[in-house]
Amino acid sequence: MQTHRIAYDFLVLSSGIEYMEEAIPGFAEAQGAITVGFRAFEQQAVWRALEAHPGGDIMLSVPPVPYRCPIAAYARAALIAQWMDRRAMPGKVILLDQNPAIPIGGPTIQAAFRDLYPRRLEHHQGVKIIRIDAKKKLIETDRRVLTYGTPSMVPPMRAAPLLSPRAWANVGWQ
Ligand SMILES: Cc1cc2nc3c(=O)[nH]c(=O)nc-3n(C[C@H](O)[C@H](O)[C@H](O)COP(=O)(O)OP(=O)(O)OC[C@H]3O[C@@H](n4cnc5c(N)ncnc54)[C@H](O)[C@@H]3O)c2cc1C
Repeated sequence: MQTHRIAYDFLVLSSGIEYMEEAIPGFAEAQGAITVGFRAFEQQAVWRALEAHPGGDIMLSVPPVPYRCPIAAYARAALIAQWMDRRAMPGKVILLDQNPAIPIGGPTIQAAFRDLYPRRLEHHQGVKIIRIDAKKKLIETDRRVLTYGTPSMVPPMRAAPLLSPRAWANVGWQ
């Protein structure tokens, strides 16, 4: 690989996030059958999965903080609930939240869930996801085993590999 050196006075590296797929057993093995949509250009895959929804419940998850754009996971759940409502689709949005409490905008989000989607959206807080079986379309949590029609799960996140100490060690920098 050809490399170039660029001098700078002040450097900002904004290299994004990496999904910690290994944190949810079964996630990596699902090989694309579970959309995430928290990195650029992935949102279309979530939309395509929704358009192909075969019926049943739509399973979403919220990773433990810190993760990118904390409110987005809740906003997405509300949008999907509204989308199902408008089409009078059977089924629910089930939001498995790995946080004990909503990390940002809690009262507003809770009021929206309660007032706008009381029968459509189930929000379970403080849930531990044990494993996902994408072939059988089921999720095991510390509370129960759930089946779903379409999943869109958000694994825990960390900084992109560019910012890991290993990456810097590779180029001989400290
Ligand atoms: C669903 C959703 C909704 C959101 N809504 C809002 C909102 O309304 N308002 C708001 O302010 N924010 C919002 N955000 C957050 C916002 O998108 C992110 O905070 C922002 O994109 C972060 O920018 P970034 O440059 O750090 O990372 P990114 O946008 O992920 O960009 C990082 C780039 O670095 C590149 N890169 C990584 N490693 C390397 C490497 N080794 N070599 C070369 N390139 C590399 C990647 O390919 C990528 O293009 C939302 C996020 C999500 C997921």
